[in-house]
Amino acid sequence: MANLINGLHHVTAIASAPQANVDFYAGILGLRLLKKTVNFDAPDVYHLYYGDETGSPGSIMTFFPFGHIQRGRRGAGQMSYTAFSVPDGALNFWMERLKKFNITFEPPARRFNEEFIRFDDNDGLGIELVATANDARPAWISASIPPDVAIRGFYTATLQERTGDRTIDLLTNQMQHRLLAQEGDRYRFEAGAGGAGNYVDIIGAVQGGNGLQGAGTIHHLAFSTDTSETQLAIRDILLEKGLEVTPVIDRQYFHSIYYREPGGILFEIATNPPGFAVDEDKNSLGTSLKLPPQYEAKRALIEQHLEPIAVRAI
Ligand code: ZN
Repeated sequence: MANLINGLHHVTAIASAPQANVDFYAGILGLRLLKKTVNFDAPDVYHLYYGDETGSPGSIMTFFPFGHIQRGRRGAGQMSYTAFSVPDGALNFWMERLKKFNITFEPPARRFNEEFIRFDDNDGLGIELVATANDARPAWISASIPPDVAIRGFYTATLQERTGDRTIDLLTNQMQHRLLAQEGDRYRFEAGAGGAGNYVDIIGAVQGGNGLQGAGTIHHLAFSTDTSETQLAIRDILLEKGLEVTPVIDRQYFHSIYYREPGGILFEIATNPPGFAVDEDKNSLGTSLKLPPQYEAKRALIEQHLEPIAVRAI
């Protein structure tokens, strides 16, 4: 069968204050703010995209910063941790940096023979940095992070499920993922070429309460597909499985379909084209508010409702 799913495309989460979100992801973590737009379904809220220089699939972290909004709760039926990839030996730099900003972290632990640290962002969203010698992707070079320790993109996405079986069935039988390894209650899958950015981890017997959506929780996880044709092909496969899949929706920087996996997590499959340079020069990505055509006529009103934000070197 043709390669219909390559691995991760983006992760979208809910945040509170927009400037605090920019300070955390562009400032502290040193990702590029590569698109400043609005939530296409609620244009009084920003949609902020961070990633590598061009917003390569597998590097794109996006947020809806709703301002005053209740915190969510991590739990079953949720993506719980977004892991980013950093070079081998970089964790000392990151632990010092987190201390500098009074961010508490769990001390380094090992998983599948790689070391990682774990902490929460300012809204309580779970983040991990995994040190790996096997990630050749170029990093975005920001003012405060030396290139030899900078984030390369995603490493893996951890899904917490009450029971993992049906999600694993979907991933392996319809979504072209392969079981790579198991350690304790964690199952690691990979898609496409594999490697950092193409993994998904499932924890399959999560106890306790269900996750509750709010600030500091993941809204959805998007997988990458090459073209509109491969997207329609995987859509047919998902429909045949009995999943309720949306029609293709134009998200300006990619085209998307959405569906809920059996454990309750919202999945998306996004096309790699057209990408973030479609409405902004590659060198000035993220510097001005970009609106999709349907909102351009309301720009003045929309801008009035958005608090100004800026990338600050911190
Ligand atoms: Zn999305």
